[in-house]
Amino acid sequence: MPPELTLLGAVQTVTGSRFLLQTNGRSYLIDCGLFQGGRALEMRNWEPFPFPPERLDAVLLTHAHIDHVGYLPRLVAQGFGGPVYATEATCALAQLVLPDSAHLQEQDAFYANKKGYSRHKPALPLYTVADAERALSRLRPFRFREPLALDGINVTWRPAGHLLGSAILEAEVAEPDHERVVFSGDLGRFDNEVMKPPEAIERADTLVVESTYGDRLHAEQSIASVLGQALEGVAERRGVLLIPAFAVGRTQQILYHIRKLQDQGIGGGIPVFVDSPMAVDASQIYCRFGDDHNLSVNLLMDEDACPLRCRETHFVREVAESKALNEMPGPAVIISASGMLTGGRILHHLKWRLPDEKNILLFVGYQAAGTRGRLLLEGASDIRIHGQQVPVRARLVRLDALSGHADQGELTRWMGEFKSAPARVFLVHGEPHASQALKARLERDLGWKASVPEEGGPAASG
Ligand code: ZN
Repeated sequence: MPPELTLLGAVQTVTGSRFLLQTNGRSYLIDCGLFQGGRALEMRNWEPFPFPPERLDAVLLTHAHIDHVGYLPRLVAQGFGGPVYATEATCALAQLVLPDSAHLQEQDAFYANKKGYSRHKPALPLYTVADAERALSRLRPFRFREPLALDGINVTWRPAGHLLGSAILEAEVAEPDHERVVFSGDLGRFDNEVMKPPEAIERADTLVVESTYGDRLHAEQSIASVLGQALEGVAERRGVLLIPAFAVGRTQQILYHIRKLQDQGIGGGIPVFVDSPMAVDASQIYCRFGDDHNLSVNLLMDEDACPLRCRETHFVREVAESKALNEMPGPAVIISASGMLTGGRILHHLKWRLPDEKNILLFVGYQAAGTRGRLLLEGASDIRIHGQQVPVRARLVRLDALSGHADQGELTRWMGEFKSAPARVFLVHGEPHASQALKARLERDLGWKASVPEEGGPAASG
C-alpha cells in the first residue's frame, strides 16, 4: 500500500500546517500548527481535530514557529499521548514558544473578560500553560541527518535554513517500495548572512512544498539602506522605530543588521529595546546550535563583540518595564512580538505609537491575509486593538529582504536540485494566487506538474 497523505491545514493559506501521513496501519502527523489571521481562521483552532488524536502514532515537527507547533497543547489536551519528534533546536525553541503562546492565550482571555470585548462569556484560553507543559513532555529531540526508524517509516531531518532547528523532513516508507515523501517545511534564503541555505534534496516521490512567496521575488532592496534610513528617520524626528518580530530568529537577524550599521556609524546613539521575555534567552540558543548559522560561537559568547547585540540593547522581561516604554520619548527602536500583530506586547506599543506621525512601523516578515499586519499594509486608516479603534499616522515601511522565506526564484532553485521530478508535487502554505504563480513557474522552468490541493486532499495525483 502506498502511503496516504491528507492535508489538514496550510492549504491555500499560510498557517495551520498539519499533514497526516498514513502507511501500513500507522498514522503520523507532520506539524501541528495554529491557524492565524482573522476570526474565521482562528475559529478553526477551536474545532475538534479531524482525526482521533489518540490514534496518532507520533507527531513529527519541521520547526518551532507557532503556525507549525502552536496547536500541540490542544492536540494533547484532546487525547494525543504519543511522542513528538523534532530536531534538538526545535525542541529547545518549543520550550520557549509553547508556554509563551499559552500565556498569551490566558492573558488575552483575562483581558477580554476584564474589558468585556469578547463575544464569548466568559472568554476562555485555547489552552493553558499547564496544557503546554504536558505537550512539552512529549518532545523527543533528534539530530539533523540522523535517520529515525519508526514503525513503517524512516524519517530524516535536513537543514531548511529558515529558523534555528528548521528542517526539511524526509519520510521513507519502509515496505514495500521505499516510497519517499518529502515535506519542505518552511524554506529559508540562499544568501542570508546569518542562516545557512536550505539543503538540496535529490529525490522524492511525493513532495509537499511551501509557497508563501510563490508569486514574489523579494525586492532588490539593500537591507542597509532601508534600515539605515529608518534609523535616521526616527533619530531626526525623535520618534520610535517599531519592529514587529518573532522573538527568536527574526529578532536576532534585525539586531545583527542594526549592529552592523552601528559599526559603520549609522544609528549608533539610538537605544534598542527587545520587548520580549523569550528573546533574552535567544543568544544562548544560537551558541548551543552553531550548525544552523554562519555566526562564530566565540563571538556570540563575547558580550561586547556579540553580533546579535546592538550598541545599547535592553532586553525587557517584565510587564512593568514593558509598560514604562510607552512613556519613553524617542529616538528609540522597539522590537516586539508577534510578527503579524495577532497578539502579544506589540499590540500595546501599536496603541501608543501608531497615532503619531513621528514614528515608523517597519515590517520585516510575511503578513498573512486577515492579520492586522496585512490590513495596515493594505492601507487601513485605523485598526482595532483590544476593542478600540486606533488611528494610523505613523509611517509604514516594508523590508522584504529580511524575510526568512525563500522567494519564487529561490523555491524554484531549491526544487531545481532534484535529480528528477517527483511523481506528485503539492503546493501548500501559500495564499491561492501565490501557490498558482509558483505552479506556473515550476511548469515553465522545470517542466514539473504541480498541484494546488484542496483542504482534506489530495486525492488526485500530479
Ligand atoms: Zn516558519
